[in-house]
Amino acid sequence: AMYPSSSYLPNALVNLLATHLGDSPDATLIRFTNGDAPITRAAFFATCERYCAFFQNLGLTAGDRIVVQTPKSPDSLCLYVAAIMAGGIYIPLNPDFTDTEVSYYLNDSQPTIFICMLDRMDTLFQIARESNVPHIYSLGADKSGSFYEDINSQNVEFTSVAERQEEDIAAILYTSGTTGRPKGAMIPHRALGSNASTLCRQWKFSAQDVLIHALPVFHTHGLFVATNVALVSGAEMLFMDKFDTEKVIQAMPSATSLMGVPTFYTRLLQHPDLSSAAKNMRLFVSGSAPLLAQTHEEWTQKTGHAILERYGMTEANMITSNPYDGPRKAGTVGMPLDGITVRITSEETMEEVAQGEVGSLEMKGPNLFTGYWQNPEKTAAEFRSDGYFISGDLACRDEDGYISIVGREKDLIISGGFNIYPKEIETVLDELTEVSESAVVGVPHTDFGEAVIAVIVPQQDAELSQTDVVNYVSSQLVNYKRPKHVAFVSSLPRNSMGKVQKNLLRDQFKTLFESD
Ligand code: AMP
Repeated sequence: AMYPSSSYLPNALVNLLATHLGDSPDATLIRFTNGDAPITRAAFFATCERYCAFFQNLGLTAGDRIVVQTPKSPDSLCLYVAAIMAGGIYIPLNPDFTDTEVSYYLNDSQPTIFICMLDRMDTLFQIARESNVPHIYSLGADKSGSFYEDINSQNVEFTSVAERQEEDIAAILYTSGTTGRPKGAMIPHRALGSNASTLCRQWKFSAQDVLIHALPVFHTHGLFVATNVALVSGAEMLFMDKFDTEKVIQAMPSATSLMGVPTFYTRLLQHPDLSSAAKNMRLFVSGSAPLLAQTHEEWTQKTGHAILERYGMTEANMITSNPYDGPRKAGTVGMPLDGITVRITSEETMEEVAQGEVGSLEMKGPNLFTGYWQNPEKTAAEFRSDGYFISGDLACRDEDGYISIVGREKDLIISGGFNIYPKEIETVLDELTEVSESAVVGVPHTDFGEAVIAVIVPQQDAELSQTDVVNYVSSQLVNYKRPKHVAFVSSLPRNSMGKVQKNLLRDQFKTLFESD
C-alpha cells in the first residue's frame, strides 16, 4: 500500500504522526530488548487502522471518549493513535488506579468504549456497567482478552480517518492534582502537533535516532513527548515495559537518546558501567520533576553528557527547555520553546517581576490545553483575562533568560508572615554529604501559622542528628527558614513520575505542633 494514504489527510495530526510512513514503511518503529520481532512503521499503522475501523464499527463518532487502563505495551500506543484516527478522545489511566478511582474517571468522562486489564476484568466490568459504558473490553498480555477476540472474529475494513480540526480534542489526561478531585485536561490536536514538531526540531531528532522508551504511557512524558517525537522524526523506539537500571544500561550502546524522570538518572548513576555504556549516546533528557543540580553535575562527570532538562505539565505539554546547542544549566529548565511565551508575575500586582525575583509562571502558546473537561469554573480560574495560563509553579529567571522552578504555589510555606520556598531549603540540605535527598513542607503551627519541617533520607550509614541539620541550615539561611522539626525516613513518597508527594508528608506531620 502507499502510505500515508490520502485517507489520513482529513486529520492533520494523524498525518503528521505518519510522517515517515510514506518514505520508509519498512523501517523499524518499535524494537525490543527481549528478542521479540521489531514492529515496522507499516505494521504499526496497519494495526492502528484496524483498531480505528473497529472503533468506528462500534459507532464511535467524533468527540466520543475511549478510556484505556492496561499495562504498558506497544498496543497501548496503537490504541492511542487509533482513537485519534477514529476522531475519538483518548483517555489513558494509570494501571495502578484502584477500582474506586476508575469508577470516578468513568463517571466523569462517560466514555463510549472502556478497555481494561484482563486480570481485574470482573470488578472493572461491573464498575463500567454501573457507569453505563456501552462497550467494555478486556485486554491482556500476549493478545489475550475480549478486545482481541472481538476484533479477530470480525472483518474490519479500514476506510478513512475521521475529519478533525486543530482545536478538536485528541486526548484527556487527568492531572495528578494534590487537592480536590482530578481534573481532565482537554488536549487539542493543535497542541500535540505543534509540540511534537517543535521538540523534534529543537532536540534534533531524526531517523538516525534510537530512543529508549522506559516511561509510562498514561502521562504526557511517555505518551506524547517520547512517542510523538519518535513517530514524527522517524526515530526508532527501544521499548521497555518499565524502567530497569540494568536493561537501560545494556540498551544504551545500541541507542542514541533517553527521555527520563530524575529517578532514572539517580539510579543509573549507581551503576558501575554507566560511563562506558553512555559513550555513544547523543542526548539525555530529563523532566516531570526537578533534577537536582548535583545529579546533573555527577552525570556530566561520569558520562561527559550534560543532561538536557526541560519543563512541562499535563495542561501545556512541553513549555521550556535547556538549549540543544549552548549551555545546559544545572538546576534550570532553560528557556521557552519556540512559539511559547512565558512570563513570571507578582501575585500582588500581577505585573512581571524583576529578573531574579520569584513569581508565578504563566504562559501562552500553541502548546496549551483548551480547558478542564466539564469544568468551566476551574478552567476560568486558571487563565488570566489576556489568555495566559497560570501554571501554579513559582519560578525565577536569571540574567541569561534561563528559568528555574522554585516550587509549586501551593507548596509555598508562610511562616510568621514570611514566604518560604521549600526548594531553597532543600538545596541547602542536599549540600550535606550525609543527605541523600530531602523534602521540605509546611505544617500548621499555632504561633507561626505554618512551621518548616525537613524530611531527610540520609545516605547509608551516615551519622546525622537533628541538631547537625538545624545548625547547618542556620549557617546558610536566615533564621525563619530553619526547620522546626527534622524527620529521618528511609525514602520519600513518590508517584510513578518521580514526583515527591508532599501532600502525604504534610498529612503525616500535620499534628506535630498541635495544641501546645
Ligand atoms: P504533571 O502535570 O503531572 O506533568 O505535573 C506538572 C508539574 O511537574 C509542573 O507544574 C511542575 O511543577 C513539575 N515539573 C515538571 N517538569 C519539571 C522540571 N523539569 N523541574 C521542576 N518541576 C517540574
